[in-house]
Amino acid sequence: MTYPYDPQNVFAKILRGEIPCKKVYENDVALVFEDIHPQAPLHLLVIPKKPYNGFSHFMSQASQEEILGFFQAIEAVATQFSIHESGYRLVTNNGPHSGQEVPHLHFHLLAKKKMEPHFS
Ligand code: 5GP
Repeated sequence: MTYPYDPQNVFAKILRGEIPCKKVYENDVALVFEDIHPQAPLHLLVIPKKPYNGFSHFMSQASQEEILGFFQAIEAVATQFSIHESGYRLVTNNGPHSGQEVPHLHFHLLAKKKMEPHFS
């Protein structure tokens, strides 16, 4: 299976510094910044620094170090924002059926409000 990547997507531009973001954390493999249209008091986007268009692409092509570092970034921001106990929601949209809008892998991290236990 091939996974063509569009280097003009908005997160690629953020990674290249062509458009700004409100960065909250980064490590060697991942960048975390605020979502521009937050759906919760805390709404972050966790993205890999390398060009993967979604989770399927990432899991089929990324190194073990990249995969570990990516999830460690999520853990790090959960610590940074003190949300381990109150909780948080992680969501990633992968491909056409999911409603994915930006074709660069991102995990949404939503927190600091009580969320409903269902999806539509
Ligand atoms: P998706 O629907 O692809 O899972 O989510 C894309 C997310 O990217 C949306 O929540 C949207 O608000 C966010 N987004 C789109 N453009 C920008 C931008 O230029 N900057 C930031 N920080 N977030 C963006």
